[in-house]
Amino acid sequence: MYKNLFKLLLALLLIVSIISCKKGLDQTKKTKPSPKEIPFALVIHGGAGTIKKEFMTPEKETAYTKKLQEALDTGYKILENGGTSIEAVQKTINIMENSPLFNAGKGAVFNSLGKQEMDASIMDGKTLNAGAVAGVSRIKNPIDAAILVKDSTKHVMLSGKGAEEFAKQHQLQFEDESYFYTENRYQSLLRAQEKEGGKVLNKSNSKNKPDFIDEHKKGTVGCVAIDKSGNIAAGTSTGGMTNKKFGRIGDAPIIGAGTYANNITCGVSATGTGEFFIRTLAAHEVSNLIQYKNLSLKQALKQVIHVEIDSLGGDGGLIGLDKNGNIAWDFNTAGMYRGFKKSTGENVIKIYSE
Ligand code: ASP
Repeated sequence: MYKNLFKLLLALLLIVSIISCKKGLDQTKKTKPSPKEIPFALVIHGGAGTIKKEFMTPEKETAYTKKLQEALDTGYKILENGGTSIEAVQKTINIMENSPLFNAGKGAVFNSLGKQEMDASIMDGKTLNAGAVAGVSRIKNPIDAAILVKDSTKHVMLSGKGAEEFAKQHQLQFEDESYFYTENRYQSLLRAQEKEGGKVLNKSNSKNKPDFIDEHKKGTVGCVAIDKSGNIAAGTSTGGMTNKKFGRIGDAPIIGAGTYANNITCGVSATGTGEFFIRTLAAHEVSNLIQYKNLSLKQALKQVIHVEIDSLGGDGGLIGLDKNGNIAWDFNTAGMYRGFKKSTGENVIKIYSE
């Protein structure tokens, strides 16, 4: 009889401990924090300069806004579907390179000899791998060539004929000079040559009225993205500066000057008079200020543009995105084509100063 009672007691004890154990497990399940959702996002620019409302027609404004939105949507979709930030930066920049509105790919500006020589670069913030091309002609999408340099060579930058040959070997798309030509850019060159001197090219006999806005902006394009894995990438593509000396290379293809990305800090893309961004290593400087001076992205951008670039007499702007998905931009010009889109639902496009 005692034996049976003891057995019953033991069984009861077992049941109670099983129930309390399960309850405990359920509780840990409930209190265990879910893995941190990484917000994905991208930020773009389409160049900085004297972009003022009074120089803009409603049609132009709509055209720019639409194209910037298309670029943002393209990159956003890639990120939303789990694509990498490198892929998002590439495809976003492709949209702007393929549009004559911007000074990159189709619609690139002319140098002093009336030629279009383009620069582009990309950087992967996870590996710090980077690729760039400088002074290339006829490659439809210079940013694609920059990615090829990153992925298929042990180098960071290829230039001129070598870069073009390399792009040919990898079957990148080439276009005739006529594809890149826009009358607006050519007129800008003629006006710049009249003002700045240098080789005065023959006036084209086009009846098109010169586009006043065009003269007052530079139109480089750039993109910084962070994907669902928290990897940051940055890229920049440009035709450089109107009436630049043949062979001149700007900041856009120089890693650390026009483009920089590092997962532990941020990604940055620059636009403006490249010489100043090279001399201040502007994009890398932003990263350094965050890493070593504990500045926020916003503070770092402000310091580089409004102190370092300003004090040299430079002009332009920067866009940035930090490791937490915060987005910021700054510029000391009248305007900058810019926008961002975040997985939190924000979608912003701006042209003029705030
Ligand atoms: N930064 C470019 C360059 O100097 C020009 C621009 O951004 O508009 O080549």
